[in-house]
Amino acid sequence: MIHESGSISINTENIFPIIKKWLYSEKDIFIRELVSNASDAISKLKKLDAMGEAELPEDNRYGIKVLVDKKEKTIKVMDNGLGMTEEEVKKYINQIAFSGAVDFLEKYKDKSDDGQIIGHFGLGFYSAFMVSERVQIDTLSYQPGAAAVRWISQGGTEFEMTESDRSERGTTITLYLSEDGVEFTDEYKMRSTLEKYFSFLPYELYLEDSAKEPEKTEEKAEENAEGTEEAIEGAKPEPKKPEPLNDTQPLWLKNPKDCTEEEYKQFYTKVFHDFNEPLFWIHLNMDYPFNLKGILYFPKLKHEFETMEGQIKLYYNQVFVADNIKEVIPEFLLLLKGVLDCPDLPLNVSRSFLQNDGYVNKISSHITKKVADKLTSLYEKERDNYNKYWDDINPFVKYGCIREDKFYDRVKDILIFKSTKGGYTTLKDYLENNKEKHENKVFYVSNEKQQAQYIRLFNENGMEAVILSTMIDNHFMQMLEGKMSGVHFNRIDADISDTMKNGETGIAEEDAGYLEKLFKSAVSDDKLKIQVESLKNESVPAMILLSEQSRRMQEMSAMFGGMDMSH
Ligand code: ADP
Ligand code: MG
Repeated sequence: MIHESGSISINTENIFPIIKKWLYSEKDIFIRELVSNASDAISKLKKLDAMGEAELPEDNRYGIKVLVDKKEKTIKVMDNGLGMTEEEVKKYINQIAFSGAVDFLEKYKDKSDDGQIIGHFGLGFYSAFMVSERVQIDTLSYQPGAAAVRWISQGGTEFEMTESDRSERGTTITLYLSEDGVEFTDEYKMRSTLEKYFSFLPYELYLEDSAKEPEKTEEKAEENAEGTEEAIEGAKPEPKKPEPLNDTQPLWLKNPKDCTEEEYKQFYTKVFHDFNEPLFWIHLNMDYPFNLKGILYFPKLKHEFETMEGQIKLYYNQVFVADNIKEVIPEFLLLLKGVLDCPDLPLNVSRSFLQNDGYVNKISSHITKKVADKLTSLYEKERDNYNKYWDDINPFVKYGCIREDKFYDRVKDILIFKSTKGGYTTLKDYLENNKEKHENKVFYVSNEKQQAQYIRLFNENGMEAVILSTMIDNHFMQMLEGKMSGVHFNRIDADISDTMKNGETGIAEEDAGYLEKLFKSAVSDDKLKIQVESLKNESVPAMILLSEQSRRMQEMSAMFGGMDMSH
């Protein structure tokens, strides 16, 4: 007969208040940790079984159940995984689980500002104490002849171990909740929490509300007795077959060859609650040299001026970790919608996730490559579609180019620009087609309505400009100027090509002098540099041009609240 009590570790005494405070905003993490442990316990047993090292009953069916009890203020997490022997409880719970928490504190106690990151990653079993006054483990190992063990701790440094009356293989963790935790006995609250983390857990997951279930059946029985149709026909109410709340085989794990377009679309709607069809998607399916699965969708923008706002859900072995983790996913990819499952990511704090960023870099460059490959294949094989998608995807591609040199290098030849001549052009084609009129100069339109006169003038002179009118285009152009040495972007009203000027026989000198004076006095600036030239074109009587550089300076200073940029 086991009866043991002891001290966990002298270091743990002051942990609770600190951890509770840190994790307060993401209290539901304890559920993620406990159900993850239940799932791990099944995975381990499955592995042992596959290696012929465990003997299981014929009708063995794996499953996990969460039981909430409002009256008793308890939550039970039950699994039929491999269970633990007495020795294992001592080793894994008393020593490792608790020392993990101490490690955690050691590493992060001076970084309370980083609460956001910490909140994403778990504390393992220990997180049960975030919401509990007392935690009890009842466990029976799969090993032949093992005795069931009960372990109880009030969350200080003391624990107690005795024999348990448990007779079935597996583990039940019972939480006797503190005031902080009772909200989770609400069935709705628990269900939405479980759905958030475990919609794609590999083993069937059930939720039961012990206070509610029996009442329901009684109500139904009464109804029938009162003479509903069913009762008249003498049909007994069917016992409700419990439904798991998860999909144990998410689409991202299937072989892309076996997935239909319909499945991809349905999955998108289900996961992102977006009823607009995605434009296209990329199915990541990689086993070597690291394991990375997932589906990235290019969403359709709802209207022209909408900024893209994506959502990338990160999973760790089919367990949801968090949305949009900048530390793991290249920032520009966050504009897409998708799911990523990276079991190779060392996510636990105790496994020093943040120091080991070699994986993170590899994973993000792999994804970046895949995205660029997909765009390239669309450009090469489905050019019409590519052009059609461009309005929706260009902010994403441009942002990617600005943020990631590697991405720019991969897509630089497939960047396309809407042309004033109609259709789309690459920069290479644009420069080639216009090189007789101007070299290394790209004319662009930032506002088609405002610059309509200039566009007309360009058209009449057989010239071409590209449309660059979104918010991101300013940065994008500057980036391109930096990358493509010698190429300059000029807004269509900034400068005109020599082909449009009339050359020598222009305006009489005295007219030019008069105009200069007029302009200087109009803006009361003697030093204003003015150049008067004449145009070939007769349909436009006169136009004012502002140099590209000084206009960009002005725009910039306006952006900085009218700061004087001359200093
Ligand atoms: P981790 O899961 O990262 O190993 P935890 O603190 O969550 O850390 O759990 C500590 C250990 O306790 C686990 O590695 C496992 O050996 C054991 N354990 C926890 N929960 C269970 C369970 N439901 N069934 C079997 N073993 C468990
Ligand atoms: Mg764990």
